[in-house]
Amino acid sequence: MRTQVAIIGAGPAGLLLSHLLHLNGIESVVLESRTRADIEATIRAGVLEQGSMHTLVEAGVGERMRKEGALHHGFELAFDGKRHRVDLLELTGKAITVYPQHEVIIDLVAARIAAQGQLLFETSEVAIHDIGSARPSVSFVHKGESRRIDADFVVGCDGFHGVSRQMIPHSLRQDFQRTYPFGWFGILVESAPSSEELIYARHERGFALVSTRSPTVQRLYLQCDPHDRVDQWSDDRIWSELHARLDNQDGWQVKEGRIFQKNVIGMRSFVCAPMRSGRLFLAGDAAHIVPPTGAKGMNLAISDVRLLAAALDGFYRQGRWEALDSYSEIALQRVWRAEYFSWWMTRLLHTFPDATPFERELQLAELRNVVSSRALRTALAENYVGAF
Ligand SMILES: Cc1cc2nc3c(=O)[nH]c(=O)nc-3n(C[C@H](O)[C@H](O)[C@H](O)COP(=O)(O)OP(=O)(O)OC[C@H]3O[C@@H](n4cnc5c(N)ncnc54)[C@H](O)[C@@H]3O)c2cc1C
Repeated sequence: MRTQVAIIGAGPAGLLLSHLLHLNGIESVVLESRTRADIEATIRAGVLEQGSMHTLVEAGVGERMRKEGALHHGFELAFDGKRHRVDLLELTGKAITVYPQHEVIIDLVAARIAAQGQLLFETSEVAIHDIGSARPSVSFVHKGESRRIDADFVVGCDGFHGVSRQMIPHSLRQDFQRTYPFGWFGILVESAPSSEELIYARHERGFALVSTRSPTVQRLYLQCDPHDRVDQWSDDRIWSELHARLDNQDGWQVKEGRIFQKNVIGMRSFVCAPMRSGRLFLAGDAAHIVPPTGAKGMNLAISDVRLLAAALDGFYRQGRWEALDSYSEIALQRVWRAEYFSWWMTRLLHTFPDATPFERELQLAELRNVVSSRALRTALAENYVGAF
């Protein structure tokens, strides 16, 4: 097989890149290790920045998001038993959309298939070769057959545990990493939303987040031990912990309902630099991870591939290498800004097991500062909507 761009991974990064390339008349093949049903059902991110929404709409895959996604003009910070609104629209002129990542995946897969894009599911033994030459290739097994794709470029969109990043030699790359001493316990609940907007709560017992997925499904998270198992959390324990952390002085309470999914998510910050070696480029979680507190992961994946698609377009249209050569440096500037913001939100809102009483008071003082200062609220809002 021969193509222009071989893409590994059919997450938001790989699928959107393939689609953007197609719109520019550039051929690609996407290799995915899981089944279509599996990638379309995996529950992950839910918050899209305005820039991400525009990218999806411009690419012709935003119609359902516009109809079914919920536009949020603000969110709330809760602490000391009170809630404080951060008005995104008033502070930045922008908003975010709550639209689940698996719905974005469903829309992108449908668009790739409608355009007769090459999307191979259930591939295994994926290996990348000759990235230092002008003819890199990818070998893999599909339907029991060993196959190979020769390409001009290979793009690793295969997430944190993929094979692509490992192809950048350790001597050429630097990995920056921080693992947090807590995780998030996430649940999906059959009920109307507890709140119209997201609530980020800081409490002595740990962080909690109220989010939604649809008018009938809530997504709730609470800070937990990263080694907790799902079976250690009965429904009663979950609700009593959520009430303790979220219910506030004016009588507002989190709405209960049938819990139909539970999972534990580890929290990590990670950056691999550079995001390129020879003709191999990395995009999305393959190159960087943020803790989910700032809701940046899917948005970074989208902004990486927007940049890379434009750079590849410049190469195929005009034979120009400049944008490809500066891809890693430019992408990493945005990545580090999002890394900083995600770390800051995480530090501001979580209970750190080793925090001294002095540090806990400083955390509260910082929160009070943020909600009482328009300048600090604006900085928070700008970072949250991605106005950078
Ligand atoms: C609980 C949770 C909540 C989150 N909330 C948010 C949020 O609100 N907002 C936000 O922006 N982000 C959020 N994120 C992060 C977001 O989900 C990720 O950043 C996003 O999925 C990254 O997309 P990606 O395409 O880079 O990688 P992925 O979505 O991980 O896709 C990689 C794909 O590559 C495939 N693959 C891996 N290895 C191979 C291989 N060897 N061969 C072939 N295929 C392979 C995988 O099966 C996968 O389908 C959240 C994440 C989690 C876990």
